Amino acid sequence: MKGRADVPEALVDGGLMPGSTGFFEPPWFYEEAVGAARLGIRVQARLHEETSACQKITIYDTTFFGKVLTLDDVVMLTERDEFVYHEMLVHVPLCSVDEPGEILIIGGGDCGCLREVLRHPCVKRVVQVDIDERVTRVCGEHFAWVRRVEADPRAELRFEDGAAYVGRQAGAFDVVIVDSTDPKGPGVGLFTRGFYAEVARSLKPGGVMVAQTESPHWDPAMVAAIFGEIRGAFGRVSAYQAPVPTYPSGHWTFCYASADRSPGDFLDEERALGVARGCRYYNPLVHKASFALPNFFIEVLRGENPFQEFDARHRLGPGAEST
Ligand code: SAM
Repeated sequence: MKGRADVPEALVDGGLMPGSTGFFEPPWFYEEAVGAARLGIRVQARLHEETSACQKITIYDTTFFGKVLTLDDVVMLTERDEFVYHEMLVHVPLCSVDEPGEILIIGGGDCGCLREVLRHPCVKRVVQVDIDERVTRVCGEHFAWVRRVEADPRAELRFEDGAAYVGRQAGAFDVVIVDSTDPKGPGVGLFTRGFYAEVARSLKPGGVMVAQTESPHWDPAMVAAIFGEIRGAFGRVSAYQAPVPTYPSGHWTFCYASADRSPGDFLDEERALGVARGCRYYNPLVHKASFALPNFFIEVLRGENPFQEFDARHRLGPGAEST
């Protein structure tokens, strides 16, 4: 966000690449990424649209993806493939901590992560802090899981800035899950070193933070900047990945960070197998394999841009002849 000295240039206003934008040209909803690629989703009906104090909230009913939630015209979840993202963002950290009882979700207003967290019997309390209550209320009207998980006595839903909330929670949580929008608007505050330092302080000894960390295919500089910020706050930082078809490039990444725990240190195989029986993506082998990274992503994590030469040859820059 312009003017925030604590935000690396690669994260300002959504990054060096043009941020994702979307528009509805009936019967299609299009999300455009990096100013050069579009995902088209055929719409049956636009079921809801409003502008809250934070963002534009839209729900579409679509022919192939079921219902789709967009925020500021960017796809947040589709009923068809949200299971990949929510299962991997939740079960990887929760199954790698022994008996996690206290969980914090920052963002996650669609309650997909909350649904998956509550499937762990050892969870005693889960606090979900989303800055925009309207996201949860609108999703409660359209996605069957929301009302069910909200009613769970272990769940506490709060509606405030997650960065402010976590700063008041020293040593409170076993796992913190950052399920944020992209680094723009209110979301940018969830990608800074200062925020990650507060998250680190909010964890109990052996605690783990995971966060969604965007696409290394289409915006390597943003991913490198995010991991750079996280490394400033945590001693052990790893990356894992999963395919999310309706996110830009379809190759999505996550960060696994801790003061003193690495992903391979512990896996509660029995609990992972139990929770996997209700999953469509997650299982213990997928858990382990998700940390096996392709070479280009390893280069990105080293702060290099594996596409630099390619982009120099192919990207339409100022003055380049566009076909
Ligand atoms: N899975 C989606 C993705 O990867 O883009 C994110 C889904 S979730 C709907 C993102 C949530 O982050 C939104 O509900 C938004 O209101 C919330 N959010 C954005 N900035 C926030 C902040 N500073 N504190 C708490 N929640 C925030």
